[in-house]
Amino acid sequence: MSAATASAKSEQATQDDLLRRVHPPEWVNPAPRKLYDLIIVGGGPAGLAAAELARRQGRSVALVERHHLGGTSLNSGSIPSKAIIRAARVLMSMRDDEDYGAVAFSAPLTDFGAVMVRMRGIRARIAEYHAVDRLSAQGVDVFFCDARFVGPNVVFAGDAHLSFKKAIVATGARPRPSNIPNLEQIGYLTSESMFNLTELPKRLGVIGGGPLGCELAQAFCRFGSHVIIAQDDPMFLPKEERDAAQILSDSLARDGVEIHLNTTVVGVRLDGKRKIVELVCAGDKFSVSVDEILAGIGRAPNVEGMNLEAAGVRYDTGTGIHVNDFLQTTNRRIYAAGDVCLEHKFTHAAEASARIAIRNALFLGRKRLSALTIPWCTYTDPEIAHIGLYVREAREKAIPVTTFTILMQDVDRAVTDGEEQGFVKIHVRQGSDRILGATVVARHAGEMINGISLAITSGIGLRALARVIHTYPTQAGAIKMAAEAYNRTRLTPTLKSLTKRWLAW
Ligand SMILES: Cc1cc2nc3c(=O)[nH]c(=O)nc-3n(C[C@H](O)[C@H](O)[C@H](O)COP(=O)(O)OP(=O)(O)OC[C@H]3O[C@@H](n4cnc5c(N)ncnc54)[C@H](O)[C@@H]3O)c2cc1C
Repeated sequence: MSAATASAKSEQATQDDLLRRVHPPEWVNPAPRKLYDLIIVGGGPAGLAAAELARRQGRSVALVERHHLGGTSLNSGSIPSKAIIRAARVLMSMRDDEDYGAVAFSAPLTDFGAVMVRMRGIRARIAEYHAVDRLSAQGVDVFFCDARFVGPNVVFAGDAHLSFKKAIVATGARPRPSNIPNLEQIGYLTSESMFNLTELPKRLGVIGGGPLGCELAQAFCRFGSHVIIAQDDPMFLPKEERDAAQILSDSLARDGVEIHLNTTVVGVRLDGKRKIVELVCAGDKFSVSVDEILAGIGRAPNVEGMNLEAAGVRYDTGTGIHVNDFLQTTNRRIYAAGDVCLEHKFTHAAEASARIAIRNALFLGRKRLSALTIPWCTYTDPEIAHIGLYVREAREKAIPVTTFTILMQDVDRAVTDGEEQGFVKIHVRQGSDRILGATVVARHAGEMINGISLAITSGIGLRALARVIHTYPTQAGAIKMAAEAYNRTRLTPTLKSLTKRWLAW
């Protein structure tokens, strides 16, 4: 057997493994019960978390998924994107090898196929945790088909009518359609098609400088594409602190991404096989030529086609299903969770909201969405993670804030690792140590923010974090350094002079 045939066979096996787990082709929907305690529409992170929790409490559960279990996160979101980002980081660090005493490696990546094969293997492996066999073993009735409400307490799934006491809609979101003239006609990539690429585009145009655009622009640039990114705002990641966004911009530029900020895409056209993207910046028109266009212009909630009207569930095609703070929709039997109703569209937020919806729907809970503190992270290099309030939000709420900042260049482990870009910024309410929010920009900011998340969620103040012994040297030590900076501000002049005299003695 030739190497090419062997590799095609193993690719097919990986694909078969994935499908066997997330949507077996031979699946036959079960005979439905007369009445379910809970019906879940959507088998992404929110739907799966809801199913598991409800079954653990012994409730009868049916889950309807029209495509693949695991939803966006497993199939075309968090998992595939992080797998290819990892490959891009490894390549980048090989190029930096000279700094570490090895022979520098500067050739562009040639085996893009291998990167994608690795990604698909990882996706198939992680799919094990989302597998239909696992759900069935837990006692969940899984229906693979579209769900459509036919009344306030009945869902039509395939050819079955499923009656429910309570339901959770967790249908997620999809790439927001673009209104850029001609883009639909000439074709473009989204997060749903990007991970099916088999060849590295020589020139890639990225529209939008949000998390998706920035993460993939950097990764593809590191693989060797010439990446051109256009963002109509003056900064990338417009929600983040300006200095964090600036570090990201500098990092993308250093990698070789061609950056066009304050730039709007006004049209696209074909020139032979090439795609021409027409741009406007400060009134000046210009164009760039690329092989592929990736649109990362936001996500639209999946609310259409479910006949939510029949169930009395109100929604908006822009913001999703209307829910109150308990995640209850306008039909009191029906709740929503995840991307279909949340402003912050993340896997961990989807799962956390599902747990709230389940407690409130099935256990007379009164858990509130607003009580959650949700961190998030953009997995560029460096990563940009945030939790809680931004300074501008605190100002808008007239909350006085003091900020403690540690630069990563002053953190021993960041220096030893040559990862000095970034900072840890922790905001406290002025005159107290109550942590209101934090931004971390660092190689592993997504890991570091969890320590601050634990503190906020448990009501631990910044002062106490100074007492937590951190392993040395670690980049998370920057959090302790910020806490120590806070403690130094607590020394009154008298205490300061007493300490000084005592030390002198
Ligand atoms: C490229 C990319 C990278 C990302 N990276 C991260 C990351 O690093 N970290 C992070 O936290 N988040 C990340 N996200 C976001 C994350 O994937 C989503 O927030 C998460 O998947 C939301 O989960 P969900 O269950 O609400 O919806 P989804 O995962 O979208 O699942 C919804 C499910 O409902 C099904 N469905 C829809 N309509 C129907 C219907 N009528 N009948 C039956 N089934 C239906 C869909 O097929 C889907 O399987 C990323 C997203 C993208 C696109």
